Amino acid sequence: MAHPYDLSREQLAELLSSEPNYRVEQVWRALWNEDRLISEITTLPGALRRRLAEELPSALSVKNDVQSDRGMTRKWVFELSDGATVETVLMAYDDRVTVCISTQAGCAMGCTFCATGQAGFTRQLSVGEVVEQVVFAARAAAPRRLSNVVFMGMGEPLANYAVTVATVKALHEHRGLSARHLTVSTVGVAPAIERLAKEGLALTLAVSLHAANDVTRSELIPLNRRYPLERLRIACEDWIATTSRRLSFEWALIDGVNDTERAAGELARYALPLRAHVNLIPLNPTPGYLVMGSPRERVREFKESLEELGVNVTVRNTRGRSIDAACGQLASVTNAKRRPVTLRR
Ligand code: SAH
Ligand code: SF4
Repeated sequence: MAHPYDLSREQLAELLSSEPNYRVEQVWRALWNEDRLISEITTLPGALRRRLAEELPSALSVKNDVQSDRGMTRKWVFELSDGATVETVLMAYDDRVTVCISTQAGCAMGCTFCATGQAGFTRQLSVGEVVEQVVFAARAAAPRRLSNVVFMGMGEPLANYAVTVATVKALHEHRGLSARHLTVSTVGVAPAIERLAKEGLALTLAVSLHAANDVTRSELIPLNRRYPLERLRIACEDWIATTSRRLSFEWALIDGVNDTERAAGELARYALPLRAHVNLIPLNPTPGYLVMGSPRERVREFKESLEELGVNVTVRNTRGRSIDAACGQLASVTNAKRRPVTLRR
């Protein structure tokens, strides 16, 4: 069943073919520029509104709604029409409002330290299901304007490639979000990065690196066995050459695993030739991974080591930990089988 944001303008026109032409623009504007639910488009005749609401039901229904950071972080668990669940996180900062969206219910990549990966894969989301997360968050953010969208919720965006690209295009073209303010985070699906580079989108790409030697990275990220660091480097070089856009690396600091001087050296050697920006974040605790995030002091030292080596680095602050809304903590999949994972150190 189609949802409001699944439809192109042409498909909407088809649905409204028995109505006067101007209705198409009216509904389209209400959905894409005014963030209205169909039931709220009160300028439509009641019968038409009811027919549209029935034929294009909302994709998301709120199952849970929690806040933290004194209301500056808010997480929703949404139930989809088939009962699958996904999570969306809204984060308000002084200078911007960011929503973190999911592209899949669950994730098949199985990264050991990630709650979504521990829970396994349920299904792909549709464009309508992904876009509606953004619109829902924008409504909640009002009167502040939603400025940034990060594809860092549940799922691997490049494993739902067509939907991710269509969502980026729709948010940019129909909703007027600057592509520069859209960040797609990937675990490192090398051929998909190369394909994405050719799409001509000025978006920001974040690669979840977490380790710059293959032994450690393969333990953390099973996909590294398929696309090891040398293969990933080729894709990163291709991204930069094709798009002229900066690349960033995400690095979750894990106590004793990837927060050592040696790890900093490996990271610098990998990141410097690519002139990548590194975002450090202390690992968020998840039920299935028994290793801790690095202590604050170690985070500072690791950052300083990288700076001494000439790497451009930022420490990201953790939002929403107390409501399981922080990076990698999203795991609303209710039928999840959680297995404890241990890591060789
Ligand atoms: N699948 C994509 C995007 C979703 S995950 C990816 O892996 O990039 C979003 C980010 O959260 C990634 O950088 C991921 O590595 C990170 N992450 C996952 N689990 C985490 C945890 N427990 N603590 C901190 N970051 C985590
Ligand atoms: Fe999937 Fe990203 Fe989690 Fe890995 S870190 S399991 S790719 S959501």
